[in-house]
Amino acid sequence: MKEKIWLSSPHMSDEGYEKEYVQEAFDTNWIAPLGTNVNGFEKELAEYVGIDHASALSSGTAAIHLALKAAGVGQGDIVFCQSLTFSATANPIVYEKAIPVFIDSDEETWNMSPEALEEAFRKYPEVKAVIVVHLYGLSADLDAIVALCKKHNVVLIEDAAESLGTTYKGKQTGTFGDYGIFSFNGNKIITTSGGGMLVSNDEEAIKKSRFWATQSRDQARHYQHSEIGYNYRMSNVVAGIGRGQLKVLDQRVAKKQAIYNFYKQELSHLEGIQFMPINDWNNPNCWLTSITLNGKITPTQLMDALEEENIESRPVWKPMHMQPVFEQYDYVGTNVGQTLFETGVCLPSDTKMTEADLERVAKIIKGLWENV
Ligand SMILES: *Cc1c(COP(=O)(O)O)cnc(C)c1O
Repeated sequence: MKEKIWLSSPHMSDEGYEKEYVQEAFDTNWIAPLGTNVNGFEKELAEYVGIDHASALSSGTAAIHLALKAAGVGQGDIVFCQSLTFSATANPIVYEKAIPVFIDSDEETWNMSPEALEEAFRKYPEVKAVIVVHLYGLSADLDAIVALCKKHNVVLIEDAAESLGTTYKGKQTGTFGDYGIFSFNGNKIITTSGGGMLVSNDEEAIKKSRFWATQSRDQARHYQHSEIGYNYRMSNVVAGIGRGQLKVLDQRVAKKQAIYNFYKQELSHLEGIQFMPINDWNNPNCWLTSITLNGKITPTQLMDALEEENIESRPVWKPMHMQPVFEQYDYVGTNVGQTLFETGVCLPSDTKMTEADLERVAKIIKGLWENV
């Protein structure tokens, strides 16, 4: 069996920063969903992205759920949600018994189309919130989307689970909307094995999210509850991993960008290949280098060829409006997301890849074109 190349796997620092913070949690016996690592991780991540407040949670999905609650989304409310994304973006809308309306992407950004969003506002003026996603570390067209949400006075939530470290016109994604969320799942650009963060400049909202995340305990000596709560707080052990990972985030971004540049240089001449769009206002973290194929080689052929050599790749997300579980909900768009799904492939973008690994992948892909 040839050596495995992963799509995107956990990559702890060479310096062992993560272990030091985790050791500190052990040494002080703060093996709980609170402690100095939780507080430190919140503060350090907020500083990194340039926002006032952050709340460390058990997952990115939990962060989206609490952002929706903070936005006041409840039963029967309409929420516009980017269709081309991972299901975790949309599921929390249904947890709250609200109604997702799925919005198409555009080719320029692969993310929410401002035109489709505008059309959706005309169709559903009563909408309560919008969830935009920054897929694969590419930022959405934020000026246009923020302006539309302001114009309609609707809360904007940024799902920046895949885009930590990405900037739009020099400012970090996740800090443009009323709420931003990040994920530290095992495959993300930095990981805590599992975890998430809700960020906002609204201090009250972040305080409230910590309250909900710890079972909504009212201030009383006994256990008193006047709201439904959740067990969503991040563990102090896990937060230690996050603090260490944050120290190498810039290195990870640089490596992901180098991977993108390598593939682009080696493969962009191949007939029918197009790389994910990088606009001049966008400095993406290049979480996964993704391409579309509109020629003789199909995504399945390419993914099969890599799999035979023990190399992981995968299709672009299947849009939510095409998912059986969401088929009863409305969709606004022109099937750009569907085409990206049908033609797209995410190439291995693991920051542990060596130059030789990258050459190995490029050689297999180029080989496909030589044989047609
Ligand atoms: C990973 C991811 C999430 C969910 O984050 P978890 O921490 O796994 O719950 C949400 N949205 C997108 C776009 C993601 O890629």
